[in-house]
Amino acid sequence: MSEKILASVKVGPSKTELRELELPEIPADAALLKVEVAGVCGTDVSQYRLPLRGAPLIMGHENVGYLTRVGSEFAVRKGFKEGDLVFLEHYLPCGNCEWCHLGEYRHCTATEWFYDPRAIRYGYTSMDIAPGLWGGFSHYVYLPINAVLHNVPRGVTPEEAGVATPMSNGIQWTLIDGGVGCGSTVLIQGPGQQGLCCLMAAKQAGVSRIIVTGTGKDARRLEVANSFGADATVNVQEEDALAVIQKVTDGRGVDVVIDCTGGAGTATLLLGIEATKRRGGTMVIQAEGNQEFPSFPIGRLTRKGMTLKSARGHSYRAVELALLAIASHKFPLELMTTHQFGLAEVDYAIKSVSGEGAPDAIHVSVMPWK
Ligand SMILES: [Zn+2]
Ligand SMILES: [Zn+2]
Repeated sequence: MSEKILASVKVGPSKTELRELELPEIPADAALLKVEVAGVCGTDVSQYRLPLRGAPLIMGHENVGYLTRVGSEFAVRKGFKEGDLVFLEHYLPCGNCEWCHLGEYRHCTATEWFYDPRAIRYGYTSMDIAPGLWGGFSHYVYLPINAVLHNVPRGVTPEEAGVATPMSNGIQWTLIDGGVGCGSTVLIQGPGQQGLCCLMAAKQAGVSRIIVTGTGKDARRLEVANSFGADATVNVQEEDALAVIQKVTDGRGVDVVIDCTGGAGTATLLLGIEATKRRGGTMVIQAEGNQEFPSFPIGRLTRKGMTLKSARGHSYRAVELALLAIASHKFPLELMTTHQFGLAEVDYAIKSVSGEGAPDAIHVSVMPWK
């Protein structure tokens, strides 16, 4: 007699259905994760609206839970046992390319879901690839031998560990890619969960000045940025952001700019180029896949000797540092983890992240057993 479980299944664009599924048998080289917290991220908002690529799928790629079944080979090779509280990365890497050996699973071609239809990732993979449990908006997630797990440090709750993904991005983009460290001056554009995690990473690194920008709809998020220690917050629709940045940095401009806005067009890059110091600043940017920038001011960029980098996911090391940052309990994370929903409310949870659901959402989680 097989066990029945529940999952929220995406059956079409912006459409989910609660379904009863069978818990699969776990072979010796696999394990099963009982999902406690599955974070909803900005990517989910855009992915949810898209048509299915094939069969329906279970979304949810920021997953924390307990290992409930661990095959004997999985236990030996991975070093995890039943009962462990773990954070699961959304990458399912090949395990033998140069990037995998470096812990840079985001660059492994096996994880390149956006360009390779055969690549599989948690939260993006259709259910016709057996055993179908490839997303966290479900009671359980299936873990093959190439799943990437991190132990959640003692003293950290599943709810706290639920922000490990944005925190990893914050550490990757700010400290590792942006080179932010002791004494740096920093501009963070966009005060959503990613921007706030960049702020926390920068504060822990000992920055001297940090400015966070947003728009009119970000009033609450900018308040939280203040609570997390921003030196100044700016609503770019009401204030001259460049003037504020110059004032806060005594006319020098910032060392590093991190763009965490989504769909804000080219304005944030233009501001970033102007806001960096006279020579040698770094800007870490991200954009939609098809976004273009006609008449990009490349002369201005090179005249200032700037470095432009892309924010794309995180390394294994960034996740380990993120879990330590969470375990330090230096920030009131509960100001950011604003909403939790059950499996039947996945549609509303995703809409809340896009601003069409619950008001003032910053970080939203699905708790499948709620
Ligand atoms: Zn995400
Ligand atoms: Zn690889």
